[in-house]
Amino acid sequence: MTLATGVLVAGGSVVAGAAESGEFAPPPLARPVSGPSFVPRPTPAHPAEPIALPRRFSPPRLTKVPLRHGAIYGLPGPGNSVALTVDDGASSEVVKLYAEFARRTGMRITFFLNGSRPSWTDNAPALRPLVESGQVQLANHTWSHPDLRTLSDAGIVNELGKNHDFIRNVYGLDARPYFRPPFGYHNPRVDAAATGIGYSTPVLWYGSLSDSGLITPDQLKSFADRWMLAQRIVIGHANFLPVTDCFDYLVDLIHSRNLQPVTLNDYFAH
Ligand SMILES: [Zn+2]
Repeated sequence: MTLATGVLVAGGSVVAGAAESGEFAPPPLARPVSGPSFVPRPTPAHPAEPIALPRRFSPPRLTKVPLRHGAIYGLPGPGNSVALTVDDGASSEVVKLYAEFARRTGMRITFFLNGSRPSWTDNAPALRPLVESGQVQLANHTWSHPDLRTLSDAGIVNELGKNHDFIRNVYGLDARPYFRPPFGYHNPRVDAAATGIGYSTPVLWYGSLSDSGLITPDQLKSFADRWMLAQRIVIGHANFLPVTDCFDYLVDLIHSRNLQPVTLNDYFAH
């Protein structure tokens, strides 16, 4: 719905521009054609000023940075990029609203999903075009969100592998090499087991919306104020509704700080 409105308005702007150039000026009528509906009226058919569109985020124009070995916590190098990463998906409604948010604003998001959550199946039709365009990236957060340190090597491989297969089967993409260990818990053994199946980059963060549990929108906004900064990887969650009341705030904040939202694939070459 929102996208359709944007397209309509954009189309309207084009028509308005043509009208200003005279292309749409009605020709002088030699005689009435078919009745009162053809009587020229002084009221312009189009508004004089284009309707202001909400600013959309554009795809970044970046030279990709080579992905280094090991865990990443932020975006290396100078720049004004920020990577919002959103985990879990405990609420199908929140994932749905995130997808609408992305579609409406052009926001670039990397989701670290747990395939065991129905939200990623429920919302696949809405997410798929965003994923295919590259605006939204999907990455591996394990199938069922265990502390990977407590599992055997085979258990680690199973958790990442099952989720890998889910992402491939439902979305048709290979999520490697990015995985986020649940709770941020990992160690050299976890990393080695993950690397063995191609998940060689644990993605941590340097800034959090702190919404893995339920907090208020005002709390969430204050965390965004604190952490939405250049070259940060910021973690949020698709678990509770308050974040969905903060979407416009996040957009304004990112614009006001002249930040460029990026996915990991936007930023890194691997
Ligand atoms: Zn998580």
